[in-house]
Amino acid sequence: MSLLDGYDLRDIHITTICSHTSLQIFHGAKLEGLKTAGIVEVSRKWFYELFRNLIDELIVVNSWSELCSIEVIRKLRKLNAVLIPHGSFVEYVGLKCCNELPIPMFGLRSLLSVEANQHRKMELLMRAGIPVPKSYGLNDEIDKAVIVKLPGAKGGRGYFIANNSAELLRGVNNIIRSGIVSDTDDILVQEYVIGAPAYFHYFYSPILDRVELLGMDIRYESNVDGLRRLPNALASEVTPTFNVVGNQPLVLRESLLPTVMEYGIKFVMETKKSLPPGIIGPYCLESIIKDDGSIVVFEFSGRIVAGTNLYIDGSPYSWLYWNEPMSMGRRIAREIRVAIELGRLSEVVT
Ligand code: AMP
Repeated sequence: MSLLDGYDLRDIHITTICSHTSLQIFHGAKLEGLKTAGIVEVSRKWFYELFRNLIDELIVVNSWSELCSIEVIRKLRKLNAVLIPHGSFVEYVGLKCCNELPIPMFGLRSLLSVEANQHRKMELLMRAGIPVPKSYGLNDEIDKAVIVKLPGAKGGRGYFIANNSAELLRGVNNIIRSGIVSDTDDILVQEYVIGAPAYFHYFYSPILDRVELLGMDIRYESNVDGLRRLPNALASEVTPTFNVVGNQPLVLRESLLPTVMEYGIKFVMETKKSLPPGIIGPYCLESIIKDDGSIVVFEFSGRIVAGTNLYIDGSPYSWLYWNEPMSMGRRIAREIRVAIELGRLSEVVT
């Protein structure tokens, strides 16, 4: 049985949780002539009411756990909802609900579980043949700076840097004591790569069978991005933290683009092999570009990332493919619209 059974494909609603990139997603859907539905937590309803020009239906929940309730599922199916997952989706709703929700999801649902596990995530990148930073065990001898990461998409919250084994163990003990993580297996210790961060936004279209590089950004993180404004003596006293507060636009030296594209294509090929049918739609490779021009990928997101919000009117790259304003949100809606027209919607939802 398919999740699309019983759907009226002439009346679908592009649906997402009101947060993260939802306004861009609704805006893009409207440009493609599709209807939209937002699922909003009661405390933020007033804010999303301000954008009713973009949102046809608002489904209000008291808490995110209600998303998996029979009542909400019934409403969504009545709207012929196609769900668009984003960075807040798994965080708010939980992996179990995401995996079990009987609503068609644009994208590769099975990738969300991989993304939620730091170790499985890095293994997938390695299998793809994409260069990644070295990983360490908690008891390994640490001979250079490492960054210690917690599970899930928490926007860098709770990450810390350790310069040696003692600092690593002290930091991990603090995390366990504070209850943020219960199992040390969930913690990833990774070489801290020195260079310039760059995040690449791709879209894989099963309909056109091509990878598009639609944009890129740099994350603006507190306090690490403020440290360079401090005198050296003061900066060396401060512990760097990585809380994302926003995103800045980026264009790359053109000579780096072939490598960026090669990694994007390798990622698609690997997901097709190990997680069939493979990635569908937006994904992001998050990298550090070293001073020798090599690019190391320290993380991926298997869905739309917040950095795409920069390009609601298109990016310098999206114009090369489309020659019209093409945000990631609109690109998603375009793929869905064309898939419906061609009778191929089942190829872009899981
Ligand atoms: P993440 O949640 O993995 O995207 O990481 C949050 C932030 O930590 C990134 O935006 C980078 O600033 C930094 N970061 C993560 N991993 C590394 C790494 N291996 N080397 C250097 N910086 C990193």
